[in-house]
Amino acid sequence: MAIPSAVGKTLIETLTARLGEASVLTDAGSKEPYLTETRGLYRGDALAVVRPRDCDEVSFVVGECARAGIPVVPQGGNTGLVGGGVPFGGVVLSLTRLDRIREIDGSNATITVEAGCILKTVQDAADAAGYLFPLSLASEGSCRIGGNLATNAGGTAVLRYGNMRELALGLEVVLADGRVWHGLKGLRKDNTGYDLRDLFIGSEGTLGVITAAVLKLFPKPQARVTAFVATASTHKALNLFERLRESAGDQLTAFEYLPEFGLEIVLKHKSGAVRPLSDRYPSYALIELSSPQKDADLQGRLETILGAAMEDGLVDDAVLGSSEAQSLALWALRESLSEVQRYEGGSIKHDVAVPVSRVAEFIEAATKACEAEMPGLRVCAFGHFGDGNIHFNLSQPVGMDKQAFLAEWGRFNHIVHDIVNAMGGSISAEHGIGLIKRDELKLYKDPVALDLMRALKQTLDPQNILNPGKVIALGDNKSASF
Ligand code: FAD
Repeated sequence: MAIPSAVGKTLIETLTARLGEASVLTDAGSKEPYLTETRGLYRGDALAVVRPRDCDEVSFVVGECARAGIPVVPQGGNTGLVGGGVPFGGVVLSLTRLDRIREIDGSNATITVEAGCILKTVQDAADAAGYLFPLSLASEGSCRIGGNLATNAGGTAVLRYGNMRELALGLEVVLADGRVWHGLKGLRKDNTGYDLRDLFIGSEGTLGVITAAVLKLFPKPQARVTAFVATASTHKALNLFERLRESAGDQLTAFEYLPEFGLEIVLKHKSGAVRPLSDRYPSYALIELSSPQKDADLQGRLETILGAAMEDGLVDDAVLGSSEAQSLALWALRESLSEVQRYEGGSIKHDVAVPVSRVAEFIEAATKACEAEMPGLRVCAFGHFGDGNIHFNLSQPVGMDKQAFLAEWGRFNHIVHDIVNAMGGSISAEHGIGLIKRDELKLYKDPVALDLMRALKQTLDPQNILNPGKVIALGDNKSASF
């Protein structure tokens, strides 16, 4: 979107007059960290990066941008993986200074936090007050609550506690015209019409700017046991998962999956990582049971379940992490996997979900289809198996030119997404649509759903100034054609 320079200049002056120079960054060096995304897939530019301190200032900034017709791209920790926070003109609205924890209400089991709070800070504040805030991602040291809400973030505890949508009770949101929706209610029940909260969660900054939220707290686990288990096939892993779900109920807090190739590259690139079992197996599951009761005999319970599963041929070998240090070491194997993949050259990534009942079938079918397409391709399918959410990542054949491999991104997307779609799945399980999947969404989302999404966007943001060109492209949006 071309912005007349006089309009841009006046806007910057107006914002600087109200927020102060330190809050409106216009020089290239200061803007730099806000212009690219984590993996460097996109690079944008912005008139300015604006760093308000509270909801009133956010409201002022958005209101002035609306008056000037200038786009606003909300940004939290900028850890998103789909290009959603990259600006292409307009103003980056960084929420990082809205970082207060407003209230912890133990009796209501809620915490009220501002959008710029780092996820880890919220976890720590809950912990210090004797509670658990369960959202947990590898980026938790830098992603922010507003970004977590805007992407409906998932992570490793969704199986037990749900994703961000399930963890939020109320929101405070600045609308596209600068008005504030005060929806910061900590209610478990509220049937007063349409669900506005869920509309903004997962909207990736295209419908409103989230400035604060009321989030649910849970009792802290007092007992926990982790196991690293070898299985001969994804189908056996699924049978094991079903069995654990039946026997352990909501004590089952994680069931993560990784293949031998994934474990191999973690051991190769992560210093200190140790193979947890003596032999190699085709696939592994990282299992965690936890309980708020100190005397819950989780270790005994898991040993019994795994022992029976071994007798029935579902499990080939297993090790239990009975101390905190052992558990952390097992978790580190799983959590390092996204990070170490880059050392194996180019990777083409898919964050997809299918019904849990079809997750093994999906991994097998997609692996076969992709391997048939390119000899030497190395499939690294891993992730939140118990949620039906697989990071179906492809590492380039050894020795292939990285750029030549990445040029195949679209072709592999179609192969994988066609299989996902045929199984009733989703092409974005937890990372969102942003820019990277916007055009794929048009192919796979129900057309009526797309019409409804466009209608909502046009109603809530008639000038198309909130994160334009992300998630859905409106016909008249020039920035939609990157
Ligand atoms: P940003 O990247 O700043 O923004 C993301 C999107 O939200 C953008 O579209 C932006 O415009 C919008 N936005 C940001 N703040 C606001 C706001 N206050 N109001 C309105 N819109 C806003 N994600 C998962 O879900 N699960 C994982 O397990 C996971 N693991 C990851 C591991 C690593 C190593 C990395 C780098 C990322 C991972 N992610 C994961 C992705 C990312 O961390 C999440 O999407 C996270 O929720 C983004 O938060 P953020 O503050 O960095 O948001």
